[in-house]
Amino acid sequence: MKLFLDFFRQEVPKNTKNPLFYYRQSVRLADRMLAVYFIISLLLVFLTVKQFFWLPTLLLGLLLIKLFHSDQLSARVNLLLVTLLVCAWSCWYVVLFGWDFGGQHMLFVLIVLVFFCLYEPPTFKIIYFLLILTVRISLFQYTSAHEPLVPMDSFTQFLMQMVNTISSFLMLAGCCIVYSSNLQETARQLLLHNQQLQVQAETDPLTKLINRRGFMDVMTRYVSDNPEAMYCVAIADIDFFKRVNDTYGHNCGDYVLQQLSKLFTEQAKEGYFVSRWGGEEFCFLFPGMNIDDASRIMTDLLIAVRKMKIDYEDFHFSITITAGVEENDYRSPLADLLESADRKLYRGKANGRNQMVF
Ligand code: GH3
Ligand code: MG
Ligand code: MG
Repeated sequence: MKLFLDFFRQEVPKNTKNPLFYYRQSVRLADRMLAVYFIISLLLVFLTVKQFFWLPTLLLGLLLIKLFHSDQLSARVNLLLVTLLVCAWSCWYVVLFGWDFGGQHMLFVLIVLVFFCLYEPPTFKIIYFLLILTVRISLFQYTSAHEPLVPMDSFTQFLMQMVNTISSFLMLAGCCIVYSSNLQETARQLLLHNQQLQVQAETDPLTKLINRRGFMDVMTRYVSDNPEAMYCVAIADIDFFKRVNDTYGHNCGDYVLQQLSKLFTEQAKEGYFVSRWGGEEFCFLFPGMNIDDASRIMTDLLIAVRKMKIDYEDFHFSITITAGVEENDYRSPLADLLESADRKLYRGKANGRNQMVF
């Protein structure tokens, strides 16, 4: 009993971006098209046979009730109701008029719908599919052994066959269009979201520079794509930055980091890439450059930093940086070159700071 209740209590997320929403849209479309199809078929039957049939009228009534309440029903109850309605309709139609009228075509729509139930396990879908197949084969077997209850002329037969074929094709196409276009939209949003996450994960929020993780990827990719290339790496560190924080406050320290990053980014047209390596350290990649080119650029940067005026609230001061530059020696891996640049940086610190070591 609990299993039974759990089955029908399947929650329908309210989030419109949830894939189940697209299933709902398909079901709603199928319900509406089914209602139109039921009404047209009933009218056609009534006009040609001149007889009232209570079973399809009851099915139409139930379908209309379901249509107005489908949003409150869970995905499973929706599927179950539409299955019962379509199966009952198809059986009535085929038993009454025979196989040649195409009343069984509607069963195909059910197969499409069940595969739109994204959260159902594949075994559920396969069992459902086999049940629909059984209904269709049983109907065929029945019509092979029994004559139709209501014989009709060939023109009416043609007319009904057309209504059934066109309706079932339209429903199949409608459901597929809703589902596929929405699925494409979901995939697009997911891709976009992933790209945003990737950018976020590799961007330092304070300075907007690429962070260490992102820059490591950039450098590794560059090295593996250009195994013969000449290049240099450099690590720069702000001198006595702790003092800046202690004297002017942490917010001022942040401002310094932002201003310095701005300067580095503006000068990047010289042909280097820059990243926030950590704390108040910056890492540079000079692609295609030897140590002379890289040191010249680094020296210019050191001068530019020295000249940069920091104006923060009532504080006016300037800073200096120390840097270590290392050239690719075609033997050492990237990590060793970075380590060597770091060692040179600390030699520069020991030598009095505000300098570049290469
Ligand atoms: P040195 O010249 O030897 O590099 O001295 P230093 O004071 O710059 O070096 P130290 O490593 O002692 O201090 C680095 C300081 O950088 C400590 C830390 O609070 C500060 N820092 C690191 N990241 C940030 C940040 O994002 N914002 C601010 N405001 N300060 C930071
Ligand atoms: Mg420092
Ligand atoms: Mg440091």
